[in-house]
Amino acid sequence: MSDTFNALRIVDAGDRKTRAEVTQMTLADLPDLPVLVEISHSTVNYKDGLAVSGKGRIARRLPMTAGIDLAGTVVESASSDFQPGDKVIVNGWGLSETEQGAYSKFQRVKPEWLLPLPEGFSPEQAMAIGTAGYTAGLCVQALLDWGTPKDGAPVLVTGAAGGVGSVAIALLSKLGFPVTAVTGRPETQEYLGKLGATAFLDRAELAEAGKPLQAESWAGGVDVVGNHTLANVLAQTCYGGAVAACGLAGGPALPGTVMPHILRGVALLGVDSVMAPRAKRVAAWDLLDKHLDRDLLGTMYSVHGFDELPKLAEQLMDNQIRGRVVVEI
Ligand code: NDP
Repeated sequence: MSDTFNALRIVDAGDRKTRAEVTQMTLADLPDLPVLVEISHSTVNYKDGLAVSGKGRIARRLPMTAGIDLAGTVVESASSDFQPGDKVIVNGWGLSETEQGAYSKFQRVKPEWLLPLPEGFSPEQAMAIGTAGYTAGLCVQALLDWGTPKDGAPVLVTGAAGGVGSVAIALLSKLGFPVTAVTGRPETQEYLGKLGATAFLDRAELAEAGKPLQAESWAGGVDVVGNHTLANVLAQTCYGGAVAACGLAGGPALPGTVMPHILRGVALLGVDSVMAPRAKRVAAWDLLDKHLDRDLLGTMYSVHGFDELPKLAEQLMDNQIRGRVVVEI
């Protein structure tokens, strides 16, 4: 095991700002937690983009190793649940916020954060899915649990060309739902069509304030945008439908009315990936394992080196990344 290794850490840049810098670490610098993992792969999620680019304050204390997702191999374990050599993943649990994160050759973590690497995925594929894809899994599972019909109106997916949106479309389509993709990037339509989208909507059509009740158009929805977009999606959802909301790419406001809920029984299903209980995580990863087409997954991501992390974070914030990225640590 090498004595020193690199980690990408968020540090204080003064004036209430932060910046990311590569720091040489040793095992003695890691937190005192029961399981030591050698990290092979990570990814860049929206939250990672905010943290590494300095555009959002994600870390609650500094310095903080960034990265909310990891895939790797257990090196040492004081827990009987995991043995050296076990392949594992972590999604969320406060990594890069309150807990030291994944952009580091080694990290120490709590055993309750770890899931065995799902059998059907390599570490690279698991990070191609990452928190964005696993959150898509949580959203789709929420719509299935709600009883969203497959033979009715389409399911709408916003932020379609992003990480959550891409995986949600592939999953929903494979499960037999007709899917309409909302995107601001018309050039991604061919890609979104290959993932399974059957119709497209320009995101500008949902971006402005709309009427409290609009034509019933969607059996359900997966929304990553929030704000007027989510209010409009709710106002356009069919009687008895549900919208799984997980994101705020368009802002945190929810400027709608109760009308869709009290006159059409429309449900707003909140989805959180960070502290989701183990049973929900296992169900979401099972859904992905069973229904995410591996060839399609292959078209959804690109693989990058550790040194590219700052550039990738900027590109994600500038909406220049299609689908997902994997980072080799
Ligand atoms: P990405 O950056 O990969 O994708 C976001 C997509 O949203 C973009 O590709 C774009 O889609 C669309 N978009 C961006 N800005 C706007 C805007 N101003 N108005 C409308 N659409 C916009 O991010 P992720 O898919 O990883 O994450 C999406 C959201 O979900 C984020 O807000 C993130 O924080 C949240 N999230 C929440 C989780 C939870 O636990 N609740 C877990 C994971 C993510 P297009 O180019 O197609 O228009």
